[in-house]
Amino acid sequence: MEAPQARKSMQNEFTLASISHLSSSSSPPNLSPVARFCSDSGVSELRFEQGHEPLNFNLHTSQLFKLGPMESVCISEGSESGKEPIYSKGTTIQFRNEEESRSFHCAFEQGKKEVVAQGSNLPNGTALESKSKFDDKIEASSAKMYFHYYGQLLHQQNMMQDYVRTGSYYAAVIENRADFAGRVVVDVGAGSGILSLFAAQAGAKHVYAVEASEMAEYARKLIAGNPILSQKITVVKGKVEDVELPEKVDILISEPMGTLLINERMLESYVIARDRFLVPNGKMFPTLGRIHMAPFSDEYLYIEIANKALFWQQQNYYGVDLTALHGTAFQGYFSQPVVDAFDPRLLVAPAISHVINFTTVKEEDLYEINVPLKYTSSVGTRIHGLACWFDVLFDGSTVQRWLTTAPGAPTTHWYQLRCVLSQPLYVMPGQEIVGHLHMIAHSAQSYTINLTMSVKMWGPGAEQGGILQTSSCKLDLKEPYYRMSQPQAYSLTQDQQPHQLLQTQDIQIQQDEEVSELMQQAMKDPVSVLH
Ligand code: SAH
Repeated sequence: MEAPQARKSMQNEFTLASISHLSSSSSPPNLSPVARFCSDSGVSELRFEQGHEPLNFNLHTSQLFKLGPMESVCISEGSESGKEPIYSKGTTIQFRNEEESRSFHCAFEQGKKEVVAQGSNLPNGTALESKSKFDDKIEASSAKMYFHYYGQLLHQQNMMQDYVRTGSYYAAVIENRADFAGRVVVDVGAGSGILSLFAAQAGAKHVYAVEASEMAEYARKLIAGNPILSQKITVVKGKVEDVELPEKVDILISEPMGTLLINERMLESYVIARDRFLVPNGKMFPTLGRIHMAPFSDEYLYIEIANKALFWQQQNYYGVDLTALHGTAFQGYFSQPVVDAFDPRLLVAPAISHVINFTTVKEEDLYEINVPLKYTSSVGTRIHGLACWFDVLFDGSTVQRWLTTAPGAPTTHWYQLRCVLSQPLYVMPGQEIVGHLHMIAHSAQSYTINLTMSVKMWGPGAEQGGILQTSSCKLDLKEPYYRMSQPQAYSLTQDQQPHQLLQTQDIQIQQDEEVSELMQQAMKDPVSVLH
């Protein structure tokens, strides 16, 4: 079995300013003392070395107490079983700075946790899997690829260069200084550490930047390159599900949103971090998220997808008839959600929203999400599926700020997402569309999406409420079709009716002045903003 990840990645050697063993009267030699977490002898120990005989503390029986910001005492219980603990050994530790003190406390907590995990070994020597909540539900191969991806600077840069995203976070933090000043913060999935640096700029007392990928090393470097802020930030390498922190925190900051908000299943980690680290009634940035869904009509998109399968209609491909696989290929293309930026005039009814309150949602509630759909079409058209986007709210004490990925708003690296039906639906103006969007989490850090849309009876006899036509599809959110590089034919000459829905569309988003100015412009002339 692999050693637990957090152990491999934790700092395990610390140079100290000074130590003084409580039982020893000899004055220490003129060497910098070192504290080392090790398990050479099969026992997890904390070893203090300063030239002479090391003093070992068994992590199982030791406790660490903070005496001050840079001073702690480590005490080890006596081993007489069945009796009250006798504190037989003690060492006061003077750290060189607060940052090292915090890192040391993190490493100590982590070491103790692993001792507990090792304690669950079975007598015959077979170890019980001490898997974390993350490992229990996520396939190892998926997690490996996922953290490999985020370990690369280019992907962090891509997110940082999404100025709508990063600018919204910066504004949300800086405009709400009161929520950060003098507070202890956890940055959940810190990546490059950029949000930790924002929190430190806003006057945080201390920030724990927790990052599971190799990016943690770069974050350390980036943070060290900003010396005034770096004193307030401790990078902790590991998953938020696994790492130990020496204290509870006042506020969480994170950017856990994937496509459709829920892709990557990182919201679950955000909620686990809340339950593990946040004080009761602590703040979360962002505070809540909403998924918005509306039916759309897009003939070009439909034809483009259907045409992809045409290849399989050839009856003489080097003398081979390919048509046996046409149906499979056709369904395959329609099982990919489409990611691109579309013109909001393609929407045929105001959006419905599903709210996820990060401060109250249970982790398990995110395993399966079912949203009932009900719309009234504003036009007579062919409906090709459901368009989705999301926004998140930073509910600051001073300013409430939304970050939106809505169509027509400035484009983000999330774009929007569309689930396309292989069988379009015909609707008349005023006709009702019902259905549901059912999303089930899977172990590859994504969701299976089942979409069903039905058109209700219309005109005479409609009161009987019957269904005229139903269409459904099953999609894998893990395998989207990224269409951004394709030419987008949304010009005013497109032979579709502009649905003029923007006035009624549910984009009730509080924007800053600049964003709402762009929105106004988009409403007047969406094409110029999209291209
Ligand atoms: N906060 C950074 C990075 C956001 S991307 C920014 O806003 O720019 C999300 C990051 O979270 C990735 O670097 C990923 O490796 C990390 N991450 C995802 N799940 C995690 C988990 N369970 N524990 C720790 N880090 C995690």
